[in-house]
This record gives sequence, C-alpha cells and structure tokens, in this order.
Amino acid sequence: MTFRATVLSLYPEMFPGPLGHSLAGRALERGDWSLDIRQIREFGRGRHRMVDDTPAGGGAGMVMRADVVADAIDAACPKGDTRPKLMMSPRGRPLTQDLVRELAAGEGALILCGRFEGVDERVIEGRGLREVSIGDYVLSGGETAALVLLDAVIRLLPGVMGNQQSGTHESFENGLLEHPHYTRPPEWEGRTIPAVLTSGDHGAVERWRRQEAERLTRARRPDLLGKD
Ligand code: SAH
Repeated sequence: MTFRATVLSLYPEMFPGPLGHSLAGRALERGDWSLDIRQIREFGRGRHRMVDDTPAGGGAGMVMRADVVADAIDAACPKGDTRPKLMMSPRGRPLTQDLVRELAAGEGALILCGRFEGVDERVIEGRGLREVSIGDYVLSGGETAALVLLDAVIRLLPGVMGNQQSGTHESFENGLLEHPHYTRPPEWEGRTIPAVLTSGDHGAVERWRRQEAERLTRARRPDLLGKD
C-alpha cells in the first residue's frame, strides 16, 4: 500500500526538498509513498490571486482566507477521501512518535501549511482540520513542519528502513530515550568502548543498554518515565 501525502502550500517548490534524498527519496522513487503538492494560490481571488487579508479586529499581519483554503482542500480531497486532514500549527497537538505511528499505519494525509499570522478559524472548523505542532516555538511557515512530520512517518512505512530491527530499540518506541552507540576504532583520543559491548555476552549487552536507556531518560527526560 502506498502512503499518499497531499500538501497544500504557498511554496510548493520547497517539496520534496530533503524528502527527495536518502531513505525517503528512495522510498518515493520506489512508490512506497507518493506526494501530491498543490499551490494554494491557484485558488486565490481576483487578478492578483489574493490568498490572505487583514485580520478582523485589527492588528499586525495577514490571515489566510477561509474560502481560498477550503477550495484548495476540496480540489485536493474529493468527498470519500478518508485520509486525516492536518494543519501544521503551533497551537496543535504535539507531534509524538505515537501520532507518527498512527499516521504511518493509515492510508496517507492531507497537510495544510500555514503562512502569515495563520488561517481563518472557520475553515479549520468547517473542514475538520486536526492541528499538529512540531514544538513550542514559532516557525515562519508550516512547510518545514510538514517536512518534519512526513520524514518521521515515511521512515516507519513498510520496507523503507532496510533493517526493521532499528525501529524497535529507538528513542520513544519503548517510552525511553535510546542507549549510547559506539563503533570502531576501539580507542579514540584515549576513550575506550564499554567492555560489556565487546564481551560477546548478548544478555549482558541487552541489560547494559536497558540500564543506560533508563539512566539517560531519568537524567534528561524524566517526564517520559511512567508514561507507558
Ligand atoms: N500567529 C501564529 C503563528 C503563525 S506562524 C501563532 O502565534 O500561533 C505561520 C505558520 O507557520 C502557521 O500557520 C503554521 O502553519 C506554521 N508553524 C509555525 N510554528 C509551528 C509549529 N511549532 N508547528 C507547526 N507549524 C508551525
């Protein structure tokens, strides 16, 4: 099954951008996922194809028009298209690995990228857009946020990561941050590799990794503990 991503943006040339490279790029070429990128301005009003206007109630900046955005959504997403409709927004539900997994298990998503001050609230309600945030900071537009979301989802699609194992131990997959990694050379600038990792005792390696994951999580992200 192909995961179908439809992205609505005022800067479609920003896609696939980084998603055209490496894992995601090869998966796109193979058809493990598809990308339909739409220019919202095509639905703009008047000779100048206006997509935004001044905020009701006054204040700084511009707001994307509900009618324009709705037309773009309806053209990209005919009735019967059951994919979730997302809008990238700092006010949204935080993007977590749980949400990423949920999206990756589905048939795709429509993603609206905001610009300016944001989008008229009526189209968010009227088209049932689920707002998703990539963190507690403000970006200049939703495009980079959409790239982050899609990157996280695509790597979980079947067949995308060569080694399926490298998914299960990873940060957040078991409610913990990941343990530290080491590789050759055995000594670098006087620093060695923990002896247990070269002992050949797989049970001991597993126990050490688990302990380290717990230690790092307690030190750096105690909020994750006890969430499982
Ligand atoms: N005035 C808005 C910010 C607008 S930023 C506010 O204070 O909430 C312009 C656009 O960038 C937003 O519409 C959204 O699509 C995107 N954006 C900004 N920060 C984001 C974040 N943390 N997560 C997801 N999208 C974000």
